[in-house]
Amino acid sequence: MENDNRDNKMEKIVSLCKRRGFVYQGSEIYGGMAGLYDFGPYGTELLFNIKASWWNANVNTREDYVKIDSAIFKDPRVWEASGHIGSFSDPLAECKKCNTRIRVDKELAKIGEKADEKMSEEELNKVFDANRDRIVCPKCGKKDFSVARAFNLLVKSNLGDFTNDNNNPTYLPGEASQGIYLNFKNVIDTTRMRVPFGIAQIGKAFRNEISPRSFLFRTRELEQADTQYFVRPNENKEAYERIKKDRFDWYLSLGIKEENLRFKQHENLVFYASDAWDIEYNYPSLGFDEVEGIHDRTDYDLTQHSKHSGTDLSYTDPYTGEKYIPWILETSMGIGRVFLAVISEAYDEDELGGEKRTVLRLPSHLAPVKVAVFPLLKNKPELVAKAREVYGMLKKEFGAVEFDDNGNIGKRYRRQDEIGTPACVTVDFDTLEGDTVTIRNRDSGEQERLPVNELVKYFRSLLG
Ligand code: ATP
Repeated sequence: MENDNRDNKMEKIVSLCKRRGFVYQGSEIYGGMAGLYDFGPYGTELLFNIKASWWNANVNTREDYVKIDSAIFKDPRVWEASGHIGSFSDPLAECKKCNTRIRVDKELAKIGEKADEKMSEEELNKVFDANRDRIVCPKCGKKDFSVARAFNLLVKSNLGDFTNDNNNPTYLPGEASQGIYLNFKNVIDTTRMRVPFGIAQIGKAFRNEISPRSFLFRTRELEQADTQYFVRPNENKEAYERIKKDRFDWYLSLGIKEENLRFKQHENLVFYASDAWDIEYNYPSLGFDEVEGIHDRTDYDLTQHSKHSGTDLSYTDPYTGEKYIPWILETSMGIGRVFLAVISEAYDEDELGGEKRTVLRLPSHLAPVKVAVFPLLKNKPELVAKAREVYGMLKKEFGAVEFDDNGNIGKRYRRQDEIGTPACVTVDFDTLEGDTVTIRNRDSGEQERLPVNELVKYFRSLLG
């Protein structure tokens, strides 16, 4: 795929995701809704496998992390305390000709100007004004925009409000991680976890993004996988470096090449943060952009929630009696962005036996289907019965195993290649004679013959 134009690759990925049941446009039968997507059967499996890998790396293989799962809705004061009501905003400008809205910081960044959502409106408008002749409306091509103003991204609901005016909205979470801060005391009081330790959670977040774009990269409903690691004040540096390394290594374990990943340090820190880095992936059509943030947040979150809730969230060391508000090291990753990175990395086109094919070279622990089993011919009951028997045996062992008797074998291979199935097993007339089957490898296309009674052992080793 060396010569493939990057923009074209994104289009091909979107089309593959639709065609093969990974991702559909949200509310598609009503014409679709911007920034919302539904995951289809294979997409749901891939999503599940990504999450399982994340839980495994961050919690199951460590002694110092526990999981929680908090309610989506929270007391509205949570978003006041967190700063989201005051400052969770992006700078928006509107085209005066066609009313298309743009996100000014991102448009400035695209033309190489330094700008981000943390700048004040005044600072940002200065840079915007100096570059107005270089920013074109993506819809009508004009260069006539309103001033940039901060637009709050929180999505409101009327949960628990039985008036018609909704003056006290309950917000949908702008980020999932607040549930962890709210349960810090509960976890300390009900488990044996002691600082330093971490709490991990996967949860939904909602953002009224001004211009959702680039498929799963910027959506209005998203899922975040977060960890918050609580440390003694000023004992943050060593743990922060460990966490940065662990998170980077996890992306490599998903089959992502090191050359397509990089760290980027934030230049503009929010006032309470001591350090902040992003892990970026080299997305088709976008180039390097954020997949995960790793933030050294000092004591901000627990201090804010102590003040606003009136509940003391300080921690008392059981050995020394020392009392303090722990500092927090956060990792926050968008699962949709990881999904897009994994598919982008795995997507390939090559030629096999003189025929062009599309193949997803997914690592086997992420592949939605582990093995597919085919009878050579659909209309030979003895082949179908034997293939069903092999299928049953493998399904019992590996779960995500598929049976397919539709179309010629070449077509069945290509279908499995496109969804990333590591291997296919074909039952043919020799199987009926000698109880052996053909195994065809996704990546090399090579075929080998093995006795049926060795298949489980073979796939245990191949699939890890
Ligand atoms: P960006 O600058 O791209 O808007 P952010 O800095 O606001 O992202 P965070 O608030 O740090 O993002 O959220 C943590 C993670 O959640 C991000 O690294 C990203 O993977 C994911 N994320 C944030 N916003 C979106 C979105 N609109 N759609 C999909 N994923 C998102």
